[in-house]
Amino acid sequence: MRVAVYPGTFDPITNGHLDIVERAAGIFDRVIIAIANENYKKNLFTLEERRDLVIKVCKHIPNIQVEVFQGLLADFVQQKKAYIIIRGLRAVSDFEYEFQMSVMNKKLNKNIETVFLTAANEYTFLSSSIIKQVASLGGSVNGLVPPVIEQALKDKFAERRKRS
Ligand code: ADP
Repeated sequence: MRVAVYPGTFDPITNGHLDIVERAAGIFDRVIIAIANENYKKNLFTLEERRDLVIKVCKHIPNIQVEVFQGLLADFVQQKKAYIIIRGLRAVSDFEYEFQMSVMNKKLNKNIETVFLTAANEYTFLSSSIIKQVASLGGSVNGLVPPVIEQALKDKFAERRKRS
């Protein structure tokens, strides 16, 4: 059984991520979406919220599993006996960092292979950051994130405005 891990921050999951998940699920027997519990990144959504949103958005895909991880991805992959890391490649700007990470993960565990899936044309310039930026200013992100994420963003920014 070929198990792959698709790691990320998913703050929040976008249609670009979802496209990668759906395509990876068509290639591998099981795909574990691994949500990073990073505390060096300032996230909009809490780990629990990001996890719940990923579960909601991916519920139509039978062979996926959603987990959270802390620490080294290479250790998590080893623990899951997966050995395949999926990453999405967007514009050229992703390449250098992704290449570095891939080489580093190989150094940490020689059994790990990183598989890159190229972003769909329509999502090449889509990132969680740009989504958050537009949504925070009240712009529409329709068609770029699933409806449940659109709503979650509206709620989050409304809550923030109320608090400030
Ligand atoms: P990270 O902080 O680990 O980069 P992200 O949640 O931003 O986490 O991204 C997770 C993975 O999804 C990365 O491999 C990233 O390149 C990929 N990705 C992000 N946005 C898109 C997109 N629009 N299309 C394809 N892949 C994407």
